[in-house]
Amino acid sequence: MALPDSRLDRDTGDTIVSVKNLKKYYPVGRGLFRRQHALLHAVDDISFEVARGEVLGLVGESGCGKTTTGRMLVRLTNPTSGSIIVDQTDVSSISGADMGPFRQKVQMIFQDPYESLDPRMTIFDIVSEPLNVNHIGNLEQREERVAEMLTRVGLAPPATFMFRFPHELSGGQRQRVAIARALVVNPTFVVADEPTSMLDVSIRTGVMKLLTELREDFGISYLYITHDLAVARYLCDRIAVMYLGKIVEIAGSEEVIRNPLHPYARALISAVPVPDPAIARPVPNVRGGVSKPINPHPRCRFYERCPVAQKVCQDSDHPELREVEGNHFAACHLL
Ligand code: SF4
Repeated sequence: MALPDSRLDRDTGDTIVSVKNLKKYYPVGRGLFRRQHALLHAVDDISFEVARGEVLGLVGESGCGKTTTGRMLVRLTNPTSGSIIVDQTDVSSISGADMGPFRQKVQMIFQDPYESLDPRMTIFDIVSEPLNVNHIGNLEQREERVAEMLTRVGLAPPATFMFRFPHELSGGQRQRVAIARALVVNPTFVVADEPTSMLDVSIRTGVMKLLTELREDFGISYLYITHDLAVARYLCDRIAVMYLGKIVEIAGSEEVIRNPLHPYARALISAVPVPDPAIARPVPNVRGGVSKPINPHPRCRFYERCPVAQKVCQDSDHPELREVEGNHFAACHLL
């Protein structure tokens, strides 16, 4: 079957995703005469790269722009401005005929396995749909490929799952189906948007282990979106911390967890529960202010909540992300 072999040229250390000055603004508050009053800055001038074979975690609270970023990378949402290059393809320039090859290289795993699978389709139809759309293989070859993928994601024997419907499966099994569907065309890059957050804790661990194994087997690069730092630490090579549309810190996962530099990253990490109640953890140190994503003030986005804000923070624009320590980047005037 003419599947692209995504295992070729893997782990070469080159860049698979390059994002530069990416912005997504949504108009809000249109009035009676459809005049635009304000813009919601969902993603506001972010830049990052993902190396081939790497898992980059995008971490932050709800509404920080991480899902919008993921959707722009797979071209489910069009950016307002900025550039996205995925596996040498300029995502903004893709049109009609180019979309098929792009969808083979780039896939997305969604958060909710209950909503992301069509309840009227069998598991075979769901998993084989990307093969059909891209005209890959004949029916026999597709059956073979779907069986192979179901087995690989732990739904074995595949014959017992192929012709069932999503409602006949558990949440964990549905998410495995969603993973099989995303990987059936052998993508090089996958955006995984909180794929374990809707699952019970016991099932979550199995799906996380599966994602790790698949990364090893297929050499896939991931952008892994999560609000859960423990998950990011387990799965990701590096972590980018987002706050109100801005990336405020990027470094290796262990480095971010053990040595957070940005005041928001420090607050986020101090809020992670620890299993041993005897271990004292500092109370998250933030002020009670609220920053607004609609026509935000040009100063630091974290200013209203920052416990160490100074006059320079009030008077200056949002700080640039810069290398504070070796390969450890943060956006703060005081660093
Ligand atoms: Fe806080 Fe100022 Fe740093 Fe922003 S720039 S995080 S307000 S110290």
